[in-house]
Amino acid sequence: MLEQKMETALNQQVNAELWSAYLYLSMSYDMDDKGYEGMASWFALQAKEEFEHATRFMKFIGEREGKVKLTPIAEVQQVWDAPKNAFDDTLKHEKIVTEKIHKLMDMAIELKDYATQNMLKWFIDEQVEEEDTVRKILETLKRIESSPAGLYALDKKLGKRGGAS
Ligand code: MG
Repeated sequence: MLEQKMETALNQQVNAELWSAYLYLSMSYDMDDKGYEGMASWFALQAKEEFEHATRFMKFIGEREGKVKLTPIAEVQQVWDAPKNAFDDTLKHEKIVTEKIHKLMDMAIELKDYATQNMLKWFIDEQVEEEDTVRKILETLKRIESSPAGLYALDKKLGKRGGAS
């Protein structure tokens, strides 16, 4: 069974993952408004992944005889000046999520909760990948942000993102 402290922290993470999904959905529709269809589709898939992250945590809480508590999701930003700003915010946000996951791991270690430690390992790897992917997109964006042709090409490329990560 999950200790109360761990259960509360995991439920807070469910909310954080759902908030991430909201954030990326908002970015998706803003990119669509700005005419970047590929980026809109990239962020929509990103939102879907965040929903899957939340689901993983909820499933785990249930398996450990905990109670899933769904709390209100805070409002997210609606408009970004340019794609680079949205990806900048994405990297900043993912770094915060990484810290949250690490704090959960610290707690699981402190509580000698081995099952939660194992579950969290997947998320630790996932965060390395998330940050790396976004960092690479940002490096490209920094080089091409003032070039419409470059932005067009990147938009096309990001639109080809598949279902996985
Ligand atoms: Mg996530």
